[in-house]
Amino acid sequence: MIMAKRDYYEVLGVPRNASVDEIKKSYRKAAMQWHPDRNPGNKDAEEKFKEAAEAYEVLSDESKRQRYNQFGHEGLRPGADFHTYTNFDDIFRHFSDIFGGGIGSSIFEDVFTGGRSHSRSRAQTGVHGSDQKIRLKLTLEEIATGVEKKLKVKRYKTCDVCSGSGAKAGSLKATCPACGGKGEIRQVARSVFGQFVSVTMCNNCDGEGRIIKEQCSSCGGEGRVHGETTIKVNVPAGVSEGNYIPLHGQGNAGQRGGPPGDLIVMVEEEPHKIFTRNGDDIILDLLFSYPQAALGAEIEVPTLTGRAKLKIESGTQSGKILRMRGKGIPSLRGDYRGDQLVRINVWIPTHLSKEDKELLRSLGKSDNIQPHEGDKSAHSDKSFFEKMKDIFS
Ligand SMILES: [Zn+2]
Ligand SMILES: [Zn+2]
Repeated sequence: MIMAKRDYYEVLGVPRNASVDEIKKSYRKAAMQWHPDRNPGNKDAEEKFKEAAEAYEVLSDESKRQRYNQFGHEGLRPGADFHTYTNFDDIFRHFSDIFGGGIGSSIFEDVFTGGRSHSRSRAQTGVHGSDQKIRLKLTLEEIATGVEKKLKVKRYKTCDVCSGSGAKAGSLKATCPACGGKGEIRQVARSVFGQFVSVTMCNNCDGEGRIIKEQCSSCGGEGRVHGETTIKVNVPAGVSEGNYIPLHGQGNAGQRGGPPGDLIVMVEEEPHKIFTRNGDDIILDLLFSYPQAALGAEIEVPTLTGRAKLKIESGTQSGKILRMRGKGIPSLRGDYRGDQLVRINVWIPTHLSKEDKELLRSLGKSDNIQPHEGDKSAHSDKSFFEKMKDIFS
């Protein structure tokens, strides 16, 4: 059925001698009034919105307006002189044009181009799940070798019953009546630059554009349920306190089928009973007897990966630091391995038998036992901390 076209002046409600500004103002008003977002599902409003766009296109152009005044609708060529608007994107483009030139135009560009495509992609994906953090305590032994850990995580996971849709089996989703399926609510406001549109997410559908008619009874329509899950994480050797391991897509499931967040595994280093970490090096304080230090010894010392042999030269002073190469922690990049640094502490006995005392007294008479002027201890030349600094640099 072909309907007679309404007079363009009538459509915009302006007199035949209206100025360009009046026409623009009038179209703006009509466009706001019949905007599809404000009239969801209203076919009549949609037609009026298209009609106003066409009228504005002709009357805002001087030569087209002249021909229209002279010959009526017959004086114009469809397609060239006016669009028969079939989709909204065309109109939105047109609509944003009339606000062109000012600061307002960029707002309209965002609203009608970026904003729309954004809401469309949101409508397909539900609500994005949030990232979740979890602490992971590791011993130095685990850090030295790397380890696979199983973590118990309490998080949202996709509802098995509805596969995340949130809808009861066989129940389809309906267009949100509050936003007409756009997922956002636009409101016209006024500023010093003129009218602008503010966009807020639709609360009725959480920006999805669709609502569930009948909710899944298992998840209450959320598409996800809270529960405990076991997750495996491979910790590489060489991590340290403050490092984190992001597990992509292992965080909270999104609402109604939205993509999941990430699980962020935060590394915590447990203090060790005998070892102290310094970067990739490991420090071990060891007690030695006086005879061991004086005569030299070969002993077994603990390391992060088992016991290892360590040779003490005769005459080793208390406080001396021995380096066991490669017995520390591998670098995270895997290109080298730290060392184990063994600090020699000569232990002075506190409980002595009568025989022990006699032996020590007689030994003490020897001139070799006495320190002489000019003899040096392990840290007589530098303070202990300076010594350590040299070693670790
Ligand atoms: Zn469900
Ligand atoms: Zn909505």
